[in-house]
Amino acid sequence: MSEETIQEMHRVLELQKALNISEGAPDTKLRKDRLDRVIAMVNKYQDQIVKSVNDDFGNRDPVMSAVTEVASVIGPMEHAKKNLKNWMKTEKRKAAIAPLGSALSLLGAKAEVKYQPKGVVGAISPWNFPVNLALAPLAGIIAAGNRVMHKPSELTPATSDVLKIMIEEYFDEGEMAVFVGGPEVGAAFSGLPFDHLMYTGSTAIAKHVMKAASENLVPLTLELGGKSPVVVGKSAKMQDVAQRVMQGKTMNAGQICLAPDYALVPEEKVDEFVKASVAVTSDMYPELKDNDDFTSIVNQKHYDRIQGLLEDAKEKGADVVEINPSNEDFSQQPHHKIPPTLLLNPSEDMKIMQEEIFGPVLPVKTYKDVSESVDYINSKDRPLGLYYFGEDNAEKDFVLDNTTSGGVTVNDVISHIQMEDLPFGGVGPSGMGSYHGYDGFKEFSHAKAVYKQTKFNLMKLAGLVPPYKKKEEKTNTA
Ligand code: NAD
Repeated sequence: MSEETIQEMHRVLELQKALNISEGAPDTKLRKDRLDRVIAMVNKYQDQIVKSVNDDFGNRDPVMSAVTEVASVIGPMEHAKKNLKNWMKTEKRKAAIAPLGSALSLLGAKAEVKYQPKGVVGAISPWNFPVNLALAPLAGIIAAGNRVMHKPSELTPATSDVLKIMIEEYFDEGEMAVFVGGPEVGAAFSGLPFDHLMYTGSTAIAKHVMKAASENLVPLTLELGGKSPVVVGKSAKMQDVAQRVMQGKTMNAGQICLAPDYALVPEEKVDEFVKASVAVTSDMYPELKDNDDFTSIVNQKHYDRIQGLLEDAKEKGADVVEINPSNEDFSQQPHHKIPPTLLLNPSEDMKIMQEEIFGPVLPVKTYKDVSESVDYINSKDRPLGLYYFGEDNAEKDFVLDNTTSGGVTVNDVISHIQMEDLPFGGVGPSGMGSYHGYDGFKEFSHAKAVYKQTKFNLMKLAGLVPPYKKKEEKTNTA
């Protein structure tokens, strides 16, 4: 990385910080205009976005990219525009000294929370939904009145270039700027004294980011990954479970932070689950190799990583169910695709049970009593998502009440991320902080406490101003 890149990042940060002070917080009109510009640029560049994502992956369906990279960016911007005025309102709070109730407000005191832009937000994004994860967070970042510096992923270079071109066309560098580059640029970027830094990516790199940010005590939002479990309850209908789990597991070939990582299935139902999973997956993808619907693994390194996990699991005794309905030969192929695969009898010494899979492979563990599933989940890092299937409310409550995950979807996988009114984020090793909708607005705002004092000097009236001891007491002691 050149010295020039570092200087350029510092120059833009200083510029944005100076503008933040000289121009002050943007009004509703300017925030809406910026949100509108995000909508306009993804609409204008829709075809280039879809094409560049396809080029970067080797093979990704245009319909899926249009939904996940374009429509799913516009939705959050529209939601923010609609709710902006309400979100920006100053919040009235009780003017009260605990435990005196709200009597102070009767005496003219006022307590309120004002939401102020943090200033300049840095954002680092990954490759798996390269446009969505770069732009969707802007709903909260812009709504809160911030300026933005962005570092997209080097693994999707064509898409990162499109991001840079369109942002430079629609935004002044004092409002938003993009810096492309790899880990070195990322490392330098995460050491900048931003007013807030958002990082979306792996838990391993997040540790470096947090360390770098700590130098300047920059507050962080960390959107990470992990092993999101599926708990299949005893009352679940296996056909529905298989359909939902496999459509979630095979979307983007499992390269989704919230992809179901492994399933926990009642032992008496495992055969039914496997049979149904093979059937529904074969229906969705009668062919795989030259089928655009089935996404490639993003590059050779990740392809080798997932093959390595499979080899390790096979060597250590897992039963492998490869779902390859047309018996295609995957040994030679330009697009490095891996067929959807179920792994039965996984054991804890297998790497696949220790690392986030991020590919179309689903280990299936069995249990006798659902409490074993809860114990297993609790013995691992807290996951980003947890999925429960079943109609038994008591069992569902038992699983949800006794586990901690970033979010939960019941009777499906991944879907809670689509609810713009729910906070999206992880917990512990799967992340910190959350965004989407109002929660995003608050995440990227500074909630400033403002108190206006009553004209009565309550401290003095209560005798809490020195000299504390009464005059006669003083005389006695002397
Ligand atoms: P990654 O951590 O390898 O890279 C993410 C970004 O960090 C890239 O832009 C990269 O250039 C940058 N980077 C690399 N080294 C850096 C360093 N030392 N300092 C600062 N930045 C650095 O992640 P990835 O492989 O691109 O993405 C996959 C991971 O991201 C998975 O773990 C997945 O679960 C997670 N993810 C999470 C979410 C979420 O919203 N929670 C969404 C998508 C992906």
